Amino acid sequence: MNTQKTIVSALYCDNYNPATVIDKVKKAITASGGLPKKIKPGTKVLINPNLLTAKSPENAVTTHPSVIKGLIHYLKSVNITDITIGDSPAGSHDWKKLWDITGMSDLARTENVQLLAFENTKTVTIDNDLVIPVLKEIDDFDAVISVPKLKTHLLTKITGAVKNTYGMIPGKAKTHFHGTHPSPRKMSKFIAKLYDTLKPDFVLMDAVESMEGEGPNTGKPVQTGIILAGKDGVAVDAAACSVYGYKPEDILIIKEAAKAGFGIIDSDRIEKTGDAWHTIKALKAKKAFLSDVFYKIPEKLFFIVSYITSCRPKIDSKKCVKCGKCMEECSQSAIYKKNNKYKVKNKKCILCMCCIETCPFKAIKLKRSWIWDLFI
Ligand code: SF4
Ligand code: SF4
Repeated sequence: MNTQKTIVSALYCDNYNPATVIDKVKKAITASGGLPKKIKPGTKVLINPNLLTAKSPENAVTTHPSVIKGLIHYLKSVNITDITIGDSPAGSHDWKKLWDITGMSDLARTENVQLLAFENTKTVTIDNDLVIPVLKEIDDFDAVISVPKLKTHLLTKITGAVKNTYGMIPGKAKTHFHGTHPSPRKMSKFIAKLYDTLKPDFVLMDAVESMEGEGPNTGKPVQTGIILAGKDGVAVDAAACSVYGYKPEDILIIKEAAKAGFGIIDSDRIEKTGDAWHTIKALKAKKAFLSDVFYKIPEKLFFIVSYITSCRPKIDSKKCVKCGKCMEECSQSAIYKKNNKYKVKNKKCILCMCCIETCPFKAIKLKRSWIWDLFI
């Protein structure tokens, strides 16, 4: 029986004031037992936040720059100065706009660190025969520190440290893998294996404000007041999921990762340090309602049942500014333009959610379709 243990720290932090966050991040890292020994002076570090899309930090879609700033200050305090920030958002994007809006440009300038556009790829093979394009420059770094944002997710229930590894795949390819792994089970197994291949060396989770409801892009920010840290991202996620009242076993992405031995979810093997564990227990942020619906659909019936009963993306023509981004992103060519309006061809849609994640104006929502709509 494996008795190996891990430490997860949870520090109470109720605002993004940089001075407060710098202090709390330092305490969270220290309480988790510190950074792994391999991260030492001279180490070249890639900080991998969640930069899903060009949204300002108060939307709780992306990792808040104050938390990354706290990490940079900690790294500099232990003489680690070769620091780069990078993540690959969903679909294609304008890097400058992404970094400006998410606060990364200012952060990089004031802290004198690099920003890396994830444009070059190399391939890795996971699950014996699945070839995945990932960031080529990953080999140039000695260590990766993942800084996920705690959010709900329509397909995987929550997105935290394990899901953040998906950011190592270039945006367009992510769209493709949503298409080839459309069910929660397939996607969770896929990401768990990807996590094992690209496991970060350390995780610092931003849950000062998290996302509740229909995440990862259209939910609402909710104050949760926590910063979590640890060397085992699966254990960090296992701790964080109780913010939504979940047990780790409820979340396939965490369960699959633990089952495969990529991390720990048993509470008696997780040493909990820090002052925020009572806060976590008391929280009951809203889950992503539709993710619970998706989980209940048997795998074999997933396509049929979802086709007949489920929702489909609907474009609100009042909110749509006709930028065409959704049409560009849809790997199934299910979005088309007619009479100067963007529409979804339900028959082609595989419910990958990429258009919803991509629309900068929240003009696309999942809505229940009438049976006859599904033949459009
Ligand atoms: S739905 Fe959104 S992404 Fe699509 S064209 Fe309209 S504003 Fe652009
Ligand atoms: S229309 Fe359907 S298939 Fe196309 S991006 Fe949106 S959810 Fe995915």
